[in-house]
Amino acid sequence: MGRPGGGLSAPAPTPAAPTASASAAGAPPHDILIACAGPAGLALGLALTRLGRRQLVVDARPPGTQRPDPRILALSHGSRQILEWLGAWPRPEPGAIRSIHVSQRGGFGRARLTAAEEGLPALGYVVEASALAATLQAAARRAGLPVLEGTRLAAVSPGDQAIEARLEGAGGAETRPVQLVAWAEGAVADGSGIMVRDYEQDAVLTVATAAEPAHGTAWERFTPDGPIAVLPLGRAWAVVFVLPRDQAAQVAALDDAAFLARLQAAFGTRLRFLGATPRATHPLVLRWRRTPIGPRQVWLGNAAQTLHPVGGQGFNLALRDIRELAERLADAPDAGAPEILRAHASARQLDRYGAMGFTDGLIRLFCNDDPLLRAARGAGLFLLDMLPPARSFLARRMIFGARAWP
Ligand SMILES: Cc1cc2nc3c(=O)[nH]c(=O)nc-3n(C[C@H](O)[C@H](O)[C@H](O)COP(=O)(O)OP(=O)(O)OC[C@H]3O[C@@H](n4cnc5c(N)ncnc54)[C@H](O)[C@@H]3O)c2cc1C
Repeated sequence: MGRPGGGLSAPAPTPAAPTASASAAGAPPHDILIACAGPAGLALGLALTRLGRRQLVVDARPPGTQRPDPRILALSHGSRQILEWLGAWPRPEPGAIRSIHVSQRGGFGRARLTAAEEGLPALGYVVEASALAATLQAAARRAGLPVLEGTRLAAVSPGDQAIEARLEGAGGAETRPVQLVAWAEGAVADGSGIMVRDYEQDAVLTVATAAEPAHGTAWERFTPDGPIAVLPLGRAWAVVFVLPRDQAAQVAALDDAAFLARLQAAFGTRLRFLGATPRATHPLVLRWRRTPIGPRQVWLGNAAQTLHPVGGQGFNLALRDIRELAERLADAPDAGAPEILRAHASARQLDRYGAMGFTDGLIRLFCNDDPLLRAARGAGLFLLDMLPPARSFLARRMIFGARAWP
């Protein structure tokens, strides 16, 4: 068992994140333990710090190491507001999405959502995941958020008054009592209470150049094989090209000319692609916990639900969850009290299921070749384009989550 009071030695400070010294120096114990210093974990740590709570982030990565992340995210205007509140909005200013063009291959109908129609400066912004991680790490350093790297949260044992967290690192192991453990370790692992829908699709990720300049338009093109998102990224385009799993690796490995021809054939002629960076692939599976809370525990971000990237919902949803949880915990005498966690889960249920249903519904509706469904989709896109209130609702749903509901 662990050695109370610290057999675990804090690793030396690294440029990536500060180490935890507060508890070692005899300061009051931390109330909340956050597992993993990924985007969701650091965002929660920053939000709680702003609201005056004491928390410790632990991450199994060796000190100072970074995990390369080829993802490029579309963050909504609502996410920008939250990240600015956290002091973690990336600089230089990310490129703005001022309109989104939605269409389907091989069928009529298209819809266009615009920021101007919503009275907003942008519908969203395009941010490289690695830049977002670096910005959050820098904000954590500035805020003095304690991050213990090279340390694994190996086990928890919840009790009535506290939850015992067993931490293991190179220097040994120890058990710390905290009020609440927040899990933000990324992908949901298999287990009881975990629901899985494997789309049998992979995302092929690349940054492409095209003959047309990126003027703030994002393209979402649905094909029976999977959606293609093309996001403006400076002078280039971030591409998420979704394909059936049995084709994705082979398409990703094509030489540039053959890959561009394949992308062009799937996307259509609205952009003429000229070049592409080496491709990365990412498996797409919907995994979610039936409930994102447990005894003195809460799950956030990918650890609570890993969504299909269509519509760019995952991290935007995570930030809304984090803001609500942090505000709820701000003045709570016991951060892990069951009624607090139940209230959080209940308050976030509509938005959570809304985002899961929205992404899953798009894939079910659009990723097939059924002629009747194709006609229905075309009619739906046509109506969306003709009906400003419907367009506005969709845009606001994507920007603000469940707050879009009247
Ligand atoms: C192809 C694709 C496209 C996506 N597009 C969008 C989008 O447009 N908009 C949107 O909102 N969401 C999008 N998502 C979802 C988004 O990536 C996740 O919601 C988000 O990453 C969840 O953050 P997390 O911290 O919960 O988990 P993760 O990102 O999985 O991170 C948690 C784990 O990874 C480690 N980690 C993470 N980052 C780093 C790092 N930089 N260095 C070292 N370790 C790290 C952490 O230590 C931890 O172990 C997309 C996902 C995919 C697969």
